[in-house]
Order: sequence, then C-alpha cells, then structure tokens
Amino acid sequence: PATLGVLGGGQLGRMFVHAAQALGYETVVLDPDAGSPAGRVSHHFIQADYRDENALRELAARCHAITTEFENVPAESLAALAATRPVSPAAECVAIAQDRIREKAHFASCATGSGVAPAPYAVIENEADLGQVPAVLLPGILKTARLGYDGKGQARVANRDELAAAWQRMGGVACVLEQMLPLAHECSVIVARGRDGQVVSLPVQRNLHRDGILAVTEVYEGNLPEIAVKQAQSATVAIANELNYVGVLCVEFFVLQNGSLVVNEMAPRPHNSGHYTVDACDASQFDLQVRTLAGLPLAAPRQHSAAIMLNLLGDLWFSADGQPRTPPWRDLLALPGAHLHLYGKTEARRGRKMGHLTFTGPDAGAVRQRALQAAALLGMEAF
Ligand code: ATP
Ligand code: MG
Ligand code: MG
Repeated sequence: PATLGVLGGGQLGRMFVHAAQALGYETVVLDPDAGSPAGRVSHHFIQADYRDENALRELAARCHAITTEFENVPAESLAALAATRPVSPAAECVAIAQDRIREKAHFASCATGSGVAPAPYAVIENEADLGQVPAVLLPGILKTARLGYDGKGQARVANRDELAAAWQRMGGVACVLEQMLPLAHECSVIVARGRDGQVVSLPVQRNLHRDGILAVTEVYEGNLPEIAVKQAQSATVAIANELNYVGVLCVEFFVLQNGSLVVNEMAPRPHNSGHYTVDACDASQFDLQVRTLAGLPLAAPRQHSAAIMLNLLGDLWFSADGQPRTPPWRDLLALPGAHLHLYGKTEARRGRKMGHLTFTGPDAGAVRQRALQAAALLGMEAF
C-alpha cells in the first residue's frame, strides 16, 4: 500500500490519519512527543524534532507524499522533504501563513480582485515605526508577526502609550498593529486545491470565540448574511489560486456591523472550525487533505446535515471549585445527533483542546436545541 506522512502529531494529524487509513493508506507521523494524539493511532511513528535531518530523511524514505498539520512546522523542513517527495502545502505557502506581515501583504494583493481586504494595519519592527502609526489604527490590536495562536501574542491597545508598552512587553519583535473593528460575526471558509488547480469549497462556517479560542462553530442555511457568504467563498478561492496553493486551506473572516467583510488570517491546513465536516459532510476536510496529497480526484463536497460543533477545552475537566471531574459523557451521548470526538490527550489543562462534540440534524432549530442542551450539561455558557 502507498504511505502518507504527516509532520505534527496533534489532533489535526490524528484526524488526517483516520481519513488516510480509511482509504487504505499506511501512515507515518513525525512528532517530538511520544504520546502525541496522531502518533498513537498511526501505523508508524517517528519521535523527533521537526528539524532533525536524519528523521526527515527517514520520513521521506518511508512515504510517497507528505503533509503537515502544525502551523509552525519549520518551512525549511518542508522544503527539505520536497527535494525528494511531493509535499503539500508548499514550504513557501506555509512560510507566508506563518508571518502575519507576509500574510496581510498577500491578502492586500488579492483584495483588488476579490474586494475583500484585511483590517487597516501597520507593520511595527522598530521604535521609528511606533512613532509613525496613523491615529486611525487606535484603538487597535497588536499581534506578533510570528507564533501567535488562540489569541496568544496579542494585546489590545487604546492609545500610543499602551501600544509602546505592549510592544516592549512582547520583546520588541516584529508585529502588526490592526485597527480594532466592530465585529458582527466571525466566519471561516475551507477550500481544497489539487495539483491540477481544481478547487472545491466547504460551506461558510460561523465561529464564536471565547477568550481568543474557538468555542462554537455553526454551519447551516442562513447562518450568515448571504452576501458575506458569497464574498467569503470567492475571496478564499482567490487567495488559494494566487498562492498556487495545493492542499487544504482555511481563511478566517470578520463580518462587520455595517455588513462588510474583512479577511483576518489563514491556516495552511485543516482547521478547528472544519471539524463538523467529519459528521455533517460527505467528504470531510481531512478526506480532502488526503485527496490533495495523494493526487486523487476532488469531488465537490456536500453538507448533508445542519451542524453545530462545541469545542471541548480542558476547563470542562474541572469543577467550579477547581476539582478534577469527568464531563457527563453518558448524558451527552443520550442526545440525538451527538458525535463525540476525543483526542486521546491524557492531561487536561485549561484552554487545551481535548476534543469536540458535533451535533447534526435536519435543520438549524433541531441542532441548536441539542447543542444548547449539551452546553447546559457541560456547564458551558449558552450562545
Ligand atoms: P487562531 O487561534 O485562530 O490562529 P490567533 O491567535 O492567530 O487565532 P486572530 O485570529 O488574529 O488570532 O485573533 C483572535 C481573535 O481576536 C479573533 O478571532 C477576533 O475575535 C479578535 N480579533 C482579532 N483581530 C481583530 C480586529 N482587528 N478587530 C476586532 N477583533 C479582532
Ligand atoms: Mg492564527
Ligand atoms: Mg484566528
């Protein structure tokens, strides 16, 4: 059988492995952590640092094609693997997504065609840049150019003094300052693009974040204004095409209170907001990742059920007074249309993604009712 490799052993890698194995592929996972969620379900596991040259050579030797599930995998490692094996997405695309300065420049260059621009922003790399920040960007959000996720590496700043202090606290690294926008909704779009340039899209997902972390994704007819849905879909295709992207790409957007759409950031891989596709679509984002990697046809995916996904963060493993507890799985699984996914992480920590719970049903009303019951059982805030 053919063998597919993945750099990174987190939950995204685990679900990629499940999808690859369903099609009969052997899998190899490379990750530094011996107990990684993907490593534990893969046929083969290489425990090594992502930069370990010997381990990368071994991965290439054992696989027919290689992908990544981890946003901050060194782009040089992908480039090294690509010398001997098909690698998707390409190192260059991953490098752009890893750097908000390059990412925003790419979005801005696509905006002429798609009409969807990033938030007004300025690059801050030194003291002089701080002084030249236009007043219109304040209040704003300062974001490190590299390595931020789940709202980490960000600071909300109201004025120039707070901006300077926040930049110092971040160690004076390269950052972008974005204007604080009045958001009505957040959403994301996942596309898969093959080596032949064929693109297929999944439906637009409406996302609710809490404390900078995705909490709830809702996907059904009417979840967002129709105009925003159309714009988000076409902007995502344009962003993928302009990169000559191969693989699964997720782009995040804001819908502003005046109805206009703004592009926020992209992930060069399947995305937490696309986990519902496993249960609610006839091809999941991980099936599409396998197909783009293996050069298989990309049939247009169809959502067959309305869906709501609740992220299960480690917080749910603790009671209000901080005592460890087990979430009420039996009660949750008694709800019709519940699909529970746990990632096999042994230690629950606050803010750590332990699993997710998707509800599928015939329409928005049905899935909302079940998902709200589940939220109440879990002690999660309603949405
Ligand atoms: P992820 O975990 O999705 O990679 P991240 O840490 O890279 O997140 P962003 O997506 O840039 O960070 O921002 C996190 C959240 O902060 C957004 O989902 C949104 O709720 C809020 N946010 C970010 N930028 C802005 C902005 N310009 N105006 C208003 N809110 C914003
Ligand atoms: Mg991000
Ligand atoms: Mg984000």
